[in-house]
Amino acid sequence: MAVITGGASGIGLAAARALGDCGAALELIDMNEDALADAAELMSSHNITVHTTVLDVTDPQAVTDAAQASKERFGPANILVNSAGIAMLHSVLDISPQDWNRVIDVDLNGTFWPSREFGRHMVEAGRGSIVNMGSMSGTIINRPQFASSYMAAKGAVHQLTRALAVEWANTGVRINALAPGYIATEMTLGMRSQPELFNEWLNMTPMGRCGTPEEVASAIVFLASDASSYMTGSIVPIDGGYTCF
Ligand code: NAD
Repeated sequence: MAVITGGASGIGLAAARALGDCGAALELIDMNEDALADAAELMSSHNITVHTTVLDVTDPQAVTDAAQASKERFGPANILVNSAGIAMLHSVLDISPQDWNRVIDVDLNGTFWPSREFGRHMVEAGRGSIVNMGSMSGTIINRPQFASSYMAAKGAVHQLTRALAVEWANTGVRINALAPGYIATEMTLGMRSQPELFNEWLNMTPMGRCGTPEEVASAIVFLASDASSYMTGSIVPIDGGYTCF
């Protein structure tokens, strides 16, 4: 069984489809109730077993309850994909305390709580694979836009991935992260529609295009499966060559 946070949209939705097509039953988690219902309908139409839970990944008690309910429904998770995330553009001097805290809370803490609570059942079962959505923004500083909260949060997701990987290395549970470049999803839609910004992104990307959610989902399937059985604590770039420069 595969649990996917942020499973209603973008990379999480593509991962759901890819893992479902590989035979996994799905527990999709998202705070967008309508989009989650649409995602479930799509999975069912492809004969994929799916259950949905509406929650905010920043709420530790809600995540704990969801992990317990999911275990009773499907057994301990085999796979967890942490794809829930948000980004905000802002300058350092202007961001409000609420906005700063929200980005850190969703992107960092919202990765930690599901990792711990679904991971707890994986550790008990002696097997499992967690795939986090880091970002090239956890490694480099994007330009020309400013988004220090996102870069700080994604850098922390990379370190959290390594820390969990080492702590659980002898339990049978592996934890890796992908570090995507610019991917064509809702998250980047507003920025992709600004030519001066978008052209700069394309100039900075050797392959000269955005990635698709499906291209990221393929790497998620690899990291989730035994095909990557000797990988843990890896931060894997998937960015059209952006971080080669
Ligand atoms: P997206 O906006 O299409 O999907 C994100 C999903 O997360 C949405 O369905 C949203 O409702 C859900 N979500 C947001 N906050 C939540 C919360 N508090 N609780 C539960 N659900 C919540 O974005 P995406 O591009 O698919 O992003 C997925 C992940 O990949 C994010 O972590 C993002 O930071 C990361 N990422 C994206 C890109 C990119 O270019 N799109 C690049 C690098 C990393």
